[in-house]
Amino acid sequence: MPNRRALILGVTGQLGSYLAELLLHKGYTVYGMVRRVSADRMERIRHLEGRLEILHGDLTDQPSIERALQLSKPQEIYNCAAQSQVGTSFIEPLHSADVPGLGALRLFEAVRTHTSASAHVRIYHASTSEMFGNQPPPQSEATPFNPSSPYACAKTFAHFCAQMYRRAYGMFIACGINFNFESERRSPEFVTRKITQGIARIKAGESSILRLGNLAAIRDWSHAEDVARAAWLMLQQPTPDDYVIASGESHTVQEFVDLAFSHASLNSSDYVHIDPQLFRPLDVGNLQGCAAKAKAVLGWEPTIRFSTLVQRMVEHDLTRAGSPPAHLAGHS
Ligand code: NAP
Ligand code: GDP
Repeated sequence: MPNRRALILGVTGQLGSYLAELLLHKGYTVYGMVRRVSADRMERIRHLEGRLEILHGDLTDQPSIERALQLSKPQEIYNCAAQSQVGTSFIEPLHSADVPGLGALRLFEAVRTHTSASAHVRIYHASTSEMFGNQPPPQSEATPFNPSSPYACAKTFAHFCAQMYRRAYGMFIACGINFNFESERRSPEFVTRKITQGIARIKAGESSILRLGNLAAIRDWSHAEDVARAAWLMLQQPTPDDYVIASGESHTVQEFVDLAFSHASLNSSDYVHIDPQLFRPLDVGNLQGCAAKAKAVLGWEPTIRFSTLVQRMVEHDLTRAGSPPAHLAGHS
């Protein structure tokens, strides 16, 4: 493949960092747009220092997006940038509308107006299963949207803009309708990493309690590495489209808790306290994706299943906290 240039927005995040690794491995020249406030959040891409071209910019700042496009001249753009926390979006609704919603529109418009031959630039946009809200599972590309948080409303707006820019301007914008994806790089505000970091603190004797909210919620969890591969595949297709990216397996938060504690040889009921303050004004109850289209068209399937995901996250945090499980002791 001739040298290709890619620009990743949200490169300091979970998905962006795995995409950067994947694209570098494939021989791309990779540019990552980083916010000034990201200076202390570079840990996910520190190992790529010297290989990744860093550009400064912010999705709330149109000229900075245009500058990043001019400097990187990408053939492929991956929009992984967002205020991505659903709970936070109830507390910061305007900011959560601005970055995931208007931010995506700013990007599409910048590509349309500031990129020569914009029809030949391929854009991946990270949409979300949160757009389905409480529609009954399994959810597919045909399921109507029913967003249930400011974040989900903003993402639905961005998703419709992506479809509209495809139709109106012939732009190549593919959307991954991503169900929850996690990893050892997940931010601790999300329940999975909160659980695995909480377990590590308990094991280290730094804490004896883990406060959680709604444990009955059902999610379809994949690994971010698999989702990064799906994003790349979407941009290698002849035409842009929308794809549900999901494991097809669903579990309650309680199941995640129990499995994670058992990996650390602990009993969750001895440590987990339910805190009513951690319940959301409106929660999405039951997400389970049908990724049949991604399998048929992209040949995509997840490689890391739920039990391995939980095990990897627990072992990572135990090792970081200095108490690796017996079979890893001496290998960290
Ligand atoms: P993440 O770890 O929270 O990363 C978000 C990224 O966006 C970070 O690099 C962050 O930069 C950047 N960002 C935040 N505000 C920005 C702004 N104003 N301008 C430019 N960049 C900004 O998210 P993720 O889990 O990798 O998710 C990637 C994308 O997939 C997001 O759009 C998310 O909404 C979507 N998604 C995620 C899931 C999931 O379960 N993870 C599911 C469906 C869809 P800083 O490091 O500076 O904060
Ligand atoms: P989301 O699916 O994108 O909102 O991802 P989260 O990991 O933030 O939340 C997944 C589910 O876990 C939601 O139904 C939350 O209500 C539930 N949950 C229960 N306790 C907590 C908690 O302490 N923190 C978070 N973030 N979510 C929690």
